[in-house]
Amino acid sequence: MQLPREVVVGKNTLDQIGAICKRLDFSKSALIVMGPKTMEIAGRKAMDILTDEGLKVDHLIVTSCNIKDIVFVEDKIDELKPQVILGVGGGTKIDVAKISASHKDKPFISVPTTASHDGIASPLVSLKGLDKPYSLMAQAPMAIVADTNIIINSSPRFTASGCADVIAKLTSVKDWKLAHEVIDEYYGEYAANLALMSARLMVRNARLLTTDREQGLRILLEALISCGVAMSIAGSSRPCSGSEHLFGHALDQIAPKPAMHGEQCGVGTIMMARLHNINWRQVRDTLKRVGAPTTAEELGMEKEHIVEALVRAQEIRPDRYTILDERSLTPETAKTLAKTTGVI
Ligand SMILES: [Zn+2]
Repeated sequence: MQLPREVVVGKNTLDQIGAICKRLDFSKSALIVMGPKTMEIAGRKAMDILTDEGLKVDHLIVTSCNIKDIVFVEDKIDELKPQVILGVGGGTKIDVAKISASHKDKPFISVPTTASHDGIASPLVSLKGLDKPYSLMAQAPMAIVADTNIIINSSPRFTASGCADVIAKLTSVKDWKLAHEVIDEYYGEYAANLALMSARLMVRNARLLTTDREQGLRILLEALISCGVAMSIAGSSRPCSGSEHLFGHALDQIAPKPAMHGEQCGVGTIMMARLHNINWRQVRDTLKRVGAPTTAEELGMEKEHIVEALVRAQEIRPDRYTILDERSLTPETAKTLAKTTGVI
């Protein structure tokens, strides 16, 4: 089990990046992986602080997380031999840094600039640009430095999407338990409860994101990080990714213009909650409260895409037993499910 050694969440925590690297014994060199925008938002500052601390700092700009980007970063790691890799950005930059560092047996520090999904703290990476989405085991970050002063300036859409990714654990944990009961899959109660507690805390505190954004953001970041830790404890994405994620991944393949990861999984959670016979209205209302989409229209999608994604979700990952294996959906039953929950 690999867990982060330092988790620093709060105002101006990026200022501590030099001290954190020193504490972890990284005093010689670092490689920062970021995007053109995240370089301006946080990357340049991180570079300056680490340079002032006496580290030799190199940086790389990446724009996506496909095989080419990963190989590019890995070649640079071979060439520069940094002690540590920092990923500064939203999803893709952190993923590229995480997987390249893991392949090259180097530690990795996560510096999120948005709170849009649980990948900021998980040991997994989602790989794009292949025939279907792949989730690969990489490594847990050695440290997570989440500066709420930076993240608070990101679009509220990112934050809403992050909330939805946390709320998704209400059904992913149900799916895991079901797999345990039906096919005797390993079920880790600790990991499951950690993910579930994060989702419940998010439901309870959702309104804070509009009334006290700073405090709401802190709870969201802690929830996302706890979900990442739950995956580290379980050794897979099982506690955090069930039928609602399969639906989200199916939409990625079907929709001409997919929405954000958390947004799609959130809408999936409403419908999977109904299949699981849990309070789907509460899921929908919480998503509404945080400003996340709850309908096809709000996702910017056609009704047909939702129905097709429901029918095809199970094929995305047949080895992952979920409620969709119990209730194999036909176009007709999928349509009824989407209609009853108000998604279409
Ligand atoms: Zn997710």
